[in-house]
Amino acid sequence: MKLSIYLLLIYLRQQTLTAREQGDTARTRDLEAFNRVFLEAAHSTNDVVLAAVLENFEDAFRDTHLGVEWKSSIPSEEEIGPLLDNVEEVSLSEAFSYTQINSTTDTTHIVNDGVVFIPAPTEWAAILENRVYLDRKTPSGDFFEEWVKHQLSLSAKYPEIQVGLYQHGLEKFGLFPIVILKIDGELQRVHLERLNCESCDWSGYTANPMLSELYDYASWLAQARRSEKFTIRSCPRCNSRLPRHPIWVEPDPL
Ligand SMILES: [Zn+2]
Repeated sequence: MKLSIYLLLIYLRQQTLTAREQGDTARTRDLEAFNRVFLEAAHSTNDVVLAAVLENFEDAFRDTHLGVEWKSSIPSEEEIGPLLDNVEEVSLSEAFSYTQINSTTDTTHIVNDGVVFIPAPTEWAAILENRVYLDRKTPSGDFFEEWVKHQLSLSAKYPEIQVGLYQHGLEKFGLFPIVILKIDGELQRVHLERLNCESCDWSGYTANPMLSELYDYASWLAQARRSEKFTIRSCPRCNSRLPRHPIWVEPDPL
């Protein structure tokens, strides 16, 4: 098991170097997404040594996006080898099982290259009661509860909308709620906001993917650009252009 993780990290390192040298952005994104799941797994099992190596990889990806010197941020083979001597075998197997995210019953999803947990609707009552999910804290206070309940009510009405939890910023801050939109067969992070049509009196909820706080600091610009592929929706009543950047609009009840 130790050998497998070691080889996996060496493989990740070589693939990252190759993808970056060839300017293969899509491949770099894939590797970054994989690294993030791997890092989540290391955090979930308190594998601080493994997490430290993976965080170095994350730094390398960030440096790549920022266009600054990136080669020195990728952990060297010398760094990877000795560090893994300290990793306990049991935590590694847990880390591996955690990364098995293909099961349809699993709540872990990769959305916009990052991990988002989408609890079942029945799990939310316990989350709001205990303010914890998968051993990570969620925000306290009435605002969080009211916000989540409101989004859940929209989710119950429109199945393409789901409410998830994601890590934004440092792990110690816990998980924050986020709205996920199923669109064109993909999952997309969005902010739901009420808009009014300036041409008629339609008013309703819309989904906007352009807000920076939906994404990691390093990737939000790329993710916002990526979401430009979704059609901008106009007013469902009079077809006029709406303000902001709605890629989903609530149907007109009239
Ligand atoms: Zn209108």
